[in-house]
Amino acid sequence: MNHSLLKSRQNEFAERLLDWFDEHGRHNLPWQGAGAYAVWVSEIMLQQTQVTTVLPYYAKFMARFPDVKTLADAPEDDVLSHWAGLGYYNRARNLQRAAQLVRDEHAGEFPDDFESVIALPGIGRSTAAAILAQAFGQQQAILDGNVKRILVRQFMVPGWPGSPKVQTVLWQHAESLTAECPVDRVADYTQAIMDLGALLCKRRAPLCQECPVSETCQAFLANAVAQYPSSKPKKLKPVKQTKMLVCRQGNEVLLIKRPATGIWPSLWSLPEAMPDAQLDEAVQQLGLRLLSQQPLPAFRHTFTHYHLDIEPVLCEVASSMVQDAPAQMWHNTRAASDGLPAWPAPVDKIVNKYLSKP
Ligand code: SF4
Repeated sequence: MNHSLLKSRQNEFAERLLDWFDEHGRHNLPWQGAGAYAVWVSEIMLQQTQVTTVLPYYAKFMARFPDVKTLADAPEDDVLSHWAGLGYYNRARNLQRAAQLVRDEHAGEFPDDFESVIALPGIGRSTAAAILAQAFGQQQAILDGNVKRILVRQFMVPGWPGSPKVQTVLWQHAESLTAECPVDRVADYTQAIMDLGALLCKRRAPLCQECPVSETCQAFLANAVAQYPSSKPKKLKPVKQTKMLVCRQGNEVLLIKRPATGIWPSLWSLPEAMPDAQLDEAVQQLGLRLLSQQPLPAFRHTFTHYHLDIEPVLCEVASSMVQDAPAQMWHNTRAASDGLPAWPAPVDKIVNKYLSKP
């Protein structure tokens, strides 16, 4: 296809995407048309999580925190426990901090100008644009993970899409395509391009034969879709090690509240010991007596900057002098799943795998 024909087809990108969306897109998501607060909560939940996973958490969260003020005024623990299972708890903390700013600085009304929205904690350029486009119909381009993948393939953009240089190029493409969208359909266009990424232009095995914009997709035309996007350049991460003490008495396990700073701030976790620590001493320091111990399979948890190799050890303990207190509690592992404390993914994994079943 020659350059001018390709350009004119690109001008029809929005039109063809919207036609596809009308027939195949997602139209009944609970936050669609439900106002800025609902769209905002959904966008934050969707930052690291797929729509189908988000839906039940969203319903539970909105039932408990139906508006900005309720969220702003709630105890942090309550907000975190309604986030339990979604992970990446900083999103929940930022959401509440932002709700408090909206309450205090915007009279409880979610702002509708870009500068004010992007100034709120936890809201970057793409999330701000997605909220303004979907809640207020503003002509704003988004560039989330799905959109990046589509644009990299449409325009055969080389390089890792997370790098600032590549992102600058992708923002330009995102803006020029969004500018072609009819002004009364910006909210639909925003949903449509996210749906295209989630439903057809998937990371692996994209469904190009069903794609409404395959005619302009340069990677598709060059039979090179599998080569885009480029993967992240590998960097060796340092490895740290820890022992997690799964102190059990009957159906209960001891949880410790982590400090407000450092990894997993303010979440409920298992007590930890150095990899070479004497277990009976470590347990004794918790005010418990070790009856027996059983190593559980070790596993690796990866943070942005390092790997953490975790060795869980099941410790049957007795004669607890440790009572529930603000920073520690005994958690009943057979409790209903909607009463779970806010805890990090590795603790969730250990409790679910080794303690929840009779
Ligand atoms: Fe993605 Fe394939 Fe469509 Fe290109 S043709 S945008 S690779 S689904």
